[in-house]
Amino acid sequence: MVFQPQLKILISRDEIAKAVDRLASEINKDYQDKQPLLIGVLKGSFMFMADLVRQLDLPLELDFIRLSSYGAAKESSGKVRIVQGIKTPIKGRDVLVVEDIVDTGITISCLLDFLRKKKPASLKLCALTDKPARRRFPVPIDYRGFTVPNKFIVGYGLDLDQRFRNLPDIYTLED
Ligand code: 5GP
Ligand code: MG
Repeated sequence: MVFQPQLKILISRDEIAKAVDRLASEINKDYQDKQPLLIGVLKGSFMFMADLVRQLDLPLELDFIRLSSYGAAKESSGKVRIVQGIKTPIKGRDVLVVEDIVDTGITISCLLDFLRKKKPASLKLCALTDKPARRRFPVPIDYRGFTVPNKFIVGYGLDLDQRFRNLPDIYTLED
């Protein structure tokens, strides 16, 4: 039998679309005359990235990086590993990292440290969602879509054991 957890809507597709519009206008303004390199963190950011870049009127490039943190499905273990790196040179570029969610902050802190060592001209973070209740590492979020409660969320790219990434809205998992 297929496991059917209870999902409760948290953020509708319309609210997501409005947030994407808002973030895109801020990014368009801040990066005018620049050629930013957007780096999406796989797999969770794929849908957000796809919607965001369609609203950006900039000569941008984009790439994806895949990280893994060992551990159980809902917890970051604190050991972050790059599973699939990027070949695009970072040095001197205006880099904007695109993430689905900042939870404890471990994953994104490791990635930002790694990228900073490659000497980008600038390094900023755009996160669709921010779950500040569980933060262990301070993370500066330059562009934030939503602050979410301390619950596990799925949909719009976010998964539970690889499921629910395709849902167009964001849900909380009720137990
Ligand atoms: P952190 O290292 O900030 O604790 O967690 C980062 C990663 O854990 C996120 O990029 C995401 O993949 C996963 N994660 C954290 N919270 C959630 C959540 O509420 N839902 C889902 N689907 N993934 C989460
Ligand atoms: Mg992620």
